[in-house]
Amino acid sequence: MNDDVEISIRDTGSGAVLLDTQTLRMPVEIGRFGADNVGRVSAGDGRVVHFGEGYGTLSRQHLTITKGSDGGLVVTDLSSNGVYEIGQAGNAPVPLGRGGAARMSPGTMRAFETVGLRVTVCAPKQAQVDAIGQPLHLVYDSSSSGRLKALDLDGVSIALVANGPEVLMRRRPGTARVALEAVRAEGATCLVMIGPDGSGGIEAICGVKDEVSHNRRMMDGDEVAAMDHLDTVDIRGQLLRIMSAEEGKGLSCTNTECRQLNPYLPGENCRYCGQRLGDGTSYWVHS
Ligand SMILES: [Zn+2]
Repeated sequence: MNDDVEISIRDTGSGAVLLDTQTLRMPVEIGRFGADNVGRVSAGDGRVVHFGEGYGTLSRQHLTITKGSDGGLVVTDLSSNGVYEIGQAGNAPVPLGRGGAARMSPGTMRAFETVGLRVTVCAPKQAQVDAIGQPLHLVYDSSSSGRLKALDLDGVSIALVANGPEVLMRRRPGTARVALEAVRAEGATCLVMIGPDGSGGIEAICGVKDEVSHNRRMMDGDEVAAMDHLDTVDIRGQLLRIMSAEEGKGLSCTNTECRQLNPYLPGENCRYCGQRLGDGTSYWVHS
């Protein structure tokens, strides 16, 4: 749902997780509650989750997360003690100021620090799937619409065809092997073909050596790689993500040299380059 936000809360000092990642309906409010100063997060659908106690420095209404006009969201500081947005790449934290707000576009993740708490907020991006057949989908950022799209690979394959320096995406019937032979017979330069392997799985067949990488490893010509949830295929900077509708979302590494998908574990390190996944893009595939 576009009305959802994901948040998690850690202790700034110890790094301990106080609240695991929660998907909550907006508007969301974080504050303290009761005589024991219990941390409380309340969501727009009436759901309430608590974390720890003894947060006397947390305001009763400390910060809110509301839906933005552009499909993103707005984090607003209502606290007495201040909320700071953690800077990117070592920049100093920026105070929002009481009544001040930070705007986040869809697909972004930010961290905020306040009274010894680190609140990680993610505005998920969603992929639209028309029909579900295969459990694995191919997800990509559509440059024309600026949105995520997910292609069903049930009985069809997706060809990435070189057209000079450009890369065109073409849908072809049949398994990856059959589709690759058909495209080649037309004289086209197929860089990679992704589609059914004929026995229930999805595979990528590399058409041209040194043009395509799978999970950061360059593929050889005619090399076949079995595709799995969160695999990333990179064709001249065009990223195709393999996602399972059942297993849900992934987190994209923001290291521009990497950009691989990782399991959705904010605060962990990228399994490919080691960079902390403190900022990234969350991809959801919904059936
Ligand atoms: Zn990485």
